[in-house]
Amino acid sequence: MTALVGHLINGEVRSDAARTQDVFNPATGAATRQVALAGKDTVEEAIAAAEAAFPAWRNTPPLKRARIMFRFKELLEQHSEEICRMIGEEHGKISHDAAGELQRGIENVEYACGAPQLLKGEHSKNVGPDIDSWSEFQPLGVVAGITPFNFPAMVPLWMYPMALVCGNCFVLKPSERDPSSVLFIAQLLQEAGLPDGVLNVVNGDKEAVDTLLTDERIKAVSFVGSTPIAEYIYSTANAHGKRCQALGGAKNHAIIMPDADMDNAVNQLLGAAFGSSGERCMALSVAVAVGDQAADALIEKMQTAMQGLKVGAYSDSSNDFGPVITGAHRDKVNGYITSAVEQGATLVVDGRNPEVAGHEDGFFVGGTLIDRVTPEMTSYQEEIFGPVLQVVRVNSMQEAMALIDDHEYGNGTCIFTRDGEAARYFSDNIQVGMVGINVPLPVPVAYHSFGGWKRSLFGDLHAYGPDAVRFYTKRKTITQRWPSAGVREGASFAFPS
Ligand code: NAD
Repeated sequence: MTALVGHLINGEVRSDAARTQDVFNPATGAATRQVALAGKDTVEEAIAAAEAAFPAWRNTPPLKRARIMFRFKELLEQHSEEICRMIGEEHGKISHDAAGELQRGIENVEYACGAPQLLKGEHSKNVGPDIDSWSEFQPLGVVAGITPFNFPAMVPLWMYPMALVCGNCFVLKPSERDPSSVLFIAQLLQEAGLPDGVLNVVNGDKEAVDTLLTDERIKAVSFVGSTPIAEYIYSTANAHGKRCQALGGAKNHAIIMPDADMDNAVNQLLGAAFGSSGERCMALSVAVAVGDQAADALIEKMQTAMQGLKVGAYSDSSNDFGPVITGAHRDKVNGYITSAVEQGATLVVDGRNPEVAGHEDGFFVGGTLIDRVTPEMTSYQEEIFGPVLQVVRVNSMQEAMALIDDHEYGNGTCIFTRDGEAARYFSDNIQVGMVGINVPLPVPVAYHSFGGWKRSLFGDLHAYGPDAVRFYTKRKTITQRWPSAGVREGASFAFPS
């Protein structure tokens, strides 16, 4: 019998499930576990547990909430190998890549440890005669998070540590495709001292998500996933009166200027295009080469460098990247490669159906390089989310920037150049939320905030960092006077000024 990954509700792991779904090891193609799919009743139980825990948690001093996060960080570090193994088994990413993901998640826990400082609010003395005024940031109540498969540990850690230290209770609906590490990590937070019911995890699919989106006890929803689902989440949550931030898909371009250090650019592109099998929302999937000379040099050097790429199972840390998440996704990625060729692009390195010894049934796609891609092609317009780098040739930096600005996504972008003036112009004007200058994956650190522009993010605030304090709290402004017995005033009918 395969193990069943259940829910965490009110501090207890529950494995009862009317519906279940297989969880695969993408490197072998075998179903290794099952995940429980919560129905409406189970999700409502989790919300009720969170609601019951809220009054005491809201009144727990921020310093005490932060101390739990300090212990949580230690436990995450202590158990990092187990967590990375679970990520590898279900997501497929290589152990060093999983370790990087976990480290970036831990950095969000470290930021949340600063809760007492972050929640200090603002104070003004004597805004009027003997009148003081201050703003404080109060928790919203019960909030929810819905997360994607590609960072099973990190993306939930973008959300609930900050939501919790701000005084909220949380219901998390992780990806049903790689649920084990999420549940394990939530249990570590319980072990660190989090009271029962403050964080609940419900595994599930659309039924669970729709319950969270429509239940009036949920005050805010954070979502990370594909753009069509992000739009649905944002509009449904808004229609039900909830605060919402919904981060969506991407198509991240790197401009290769004629003066770029080409060896460095190629090195950076290798990791940013193929690392994690291209299943990163910040993956660089399009290289825009300015001038044919730069394009030819890029293609030649990439082709040579790609001969050394090693694709395989997560457990062999000499591999560069692993399989994609499912057989259906592998077929979809292969379909994009085929469509590019059919629409006139030049396939330079074909990664379809690679041979991976001992893993013949795994969901592998090898590193793929496609030249002479144009904006009309389906593979250019849509997010591929696989280890595929497409090269578009342009004649000027302005043309390259116009291409990026015209794309519906605006998550991340990068320029490779030695020209500081060009780089400054680029970062100042490009219509993208996160910009790298000779840095291929400009993922903001935990004390900044993460978010794209255009159809890569729906909502006003970015994820984690300072924006998370604003997203997970509501401002209250209090104006106070303590009149002394001898200074009574008569009634005033003018607006106070
Ligand atoms: P997905 O949109 O398929 O799933 C995300 C979540 O939504 C999962 O929890 C899933 O169960 C739920 N979901 C799926 N279909 C649903 C439906 N019809 N109704 C309600 N809920 C539904 O995304 P994914 O395939 O897990 O993740 C990959 C996508 O996430 C890519 O598009 C990637 O770019 C994006 N992503 C974006 C960011 C970012 O920060 N912008 C970060 C990571 C991933």
